[in-house]
Amino acid sequence: MIQLTNRDPYCLRATLTTLCADTLAAHEILGFLSPSARCFCRKCMVTRAQFRANMNVVAERRTKETFEAHAAQATIPGNSTLTGVKKGCPLHLSTAFDATKDAVFDIFHDLLEGVAHWVVSLALRSFILKDKYFTLSDFNGRISAFNYGVPDIKNKPSANFSEDSLKGSKLKQTGSQMWCLIRVFGFLVANVPEDDKNLKLVNLLQSILLIVFAEAIRPDDITKLERLIEEHHRLFQELHVNNTVNVFDEDENDFGAGRQQIGRRQRVMYKEVKVHARNKLHHMTHLPEEIRDHGNLVRFWCARYEARHQIFSRYGSVCCNFINIVKSMAQMHQLSSLSGLLKTSFRAEDIELQDPLKMPLMSSDHSEILIASGVDPTSIVQAVQAVAIAGETYRSGLFVVINASAPNFALIQNLYFINDKVYLVVVPWRTVSFKCRYCAYEVECEASTHPIVVRHDALGQHGALGPWNPWSKRTVYVAPRTIIF
Ligand SMILES: [Zn+2]
Repeated sequence: MIQLTNRDPYCLRATLTTLCADTLAAHEILGFLSPSARCFCRKCMVTRAQFRANMNVVAERRTKETFEAHAAQATIPGNSTLTGVKKGCPLHLSTAFDATKDAVFDIFHDLLEGVAHWVVSLALRSFILKDKYFTLSDFNGRISAFNYGVPDIKNKPSANFSEDSLKGSKLKQTGSQMWCLIRVFGFLVANVPEDDKNLKLVNLLQSILLIVFAEAIRPDDITKLERLIEEHHRLFQELHVNNTVNVFDEDENDFGAGRQQIGRRQRVMYKEVKVHARNKLHHMTHLPEEIRDHGNLVRFWCARYEARHQIFSRYGSVCCNFINIVKSMAQMHQLSSLSGLLKTSFRAEDIELQDPLKMPLMSSDHSEILIASGVDPTSIVQAVQAVAIAGETYRSGLFVVINASAPNFALIQNLYFINDKVYLVVVPWRTVSFKCRYCAYEVECEASTHPIVVRHDALGQHGALGPWNPWSKRTVYVAPRTIIF
């Protein structure tokens, strides 16, 4: 019972609806065998052999009833291998929870710490070793020199690509760096022909990420996502999958016996490396149904929890006392949370102004268009260099979406803070077209266009984007992080 001051006590009931965890942890908690098992999927009964034969296959769906039946028979020798279930799920004590449905796949680990690494690595292998469009040092130089713009510079990929990065394995980049690298990849390899199949594979993955990472998704987008994933897997299989040589077997124990031989063949067939499909690629085929069941998966991704690790490693380096580190971390976290509570206003949109300069509206450079947009002529305005709203920074030289349905973009020129509202003076640019090879909108400035005023809360999408140019070209593109509508 919960007792609130001046109110009758009431009973608040809660239930477990969704489990967010990486694959290894989810299998352990839910009672499945490890992800290297023959039946490796917690949503369906697909076997590794079926998946390797056809990457788009989805076998008979597991249900709570079949799971319970498999768990009851798990003690019989050999049964676990056939069903992939090791034991009963303790979370089923919460009657509404279904282990086969409510443990969503983590798109952070599956895509940004898995599939994105392999696709980029294998594409670079083809571009650098086979087609020789550029060299490794060229690519590292392009990563360093690319103009990412203020919104993305903090996620700039590391220019650390070496020959080891071309083996189809994990790259030395964090998840957020990989997201940035995938978005910028087409711009870095602008001299690769548009019809190159490896570039097409990266573009398909980019299109998938645009939908999967979106905060809002329409039913049509889910249908499109299904088609994109099917196309991506078909092309991945055509380009990279071969059942005889495998560079991805290192964590698949049931196939580990041939590893030494595989290593030898890999060196011999250096330019002909083929790979097996891995679990994370199969997880992708379940993403559309998970979005239908649970909503946007970005709400459940583990990036949120991974970000907490950084906080504790920072506390650890400040504290420097490693005796009972857990207790020290708990104390420091509590102090930090309390300090945050005292400082925070709990407004959904906390606004932070940079270098504000107060003046009467009539003294500002844009008094005419501000008045025309409805601002009271007697107002006192603050001209600002930059403004951060709910984690997104707006400053001159960045693009905003002024009309999401087209979409139309506009370049920020000036920013004003008037009566608790942010006003942006922007110049609309013409949207030429969407270019698949960059996964971005080509935009161009029209000489006759005059600045207009847009209030932040009237923008087509929250957030600003830097202008990006393909390597050694001057065309301007705006590359959105997610779908715009
Ligand atoms: Zn499955």
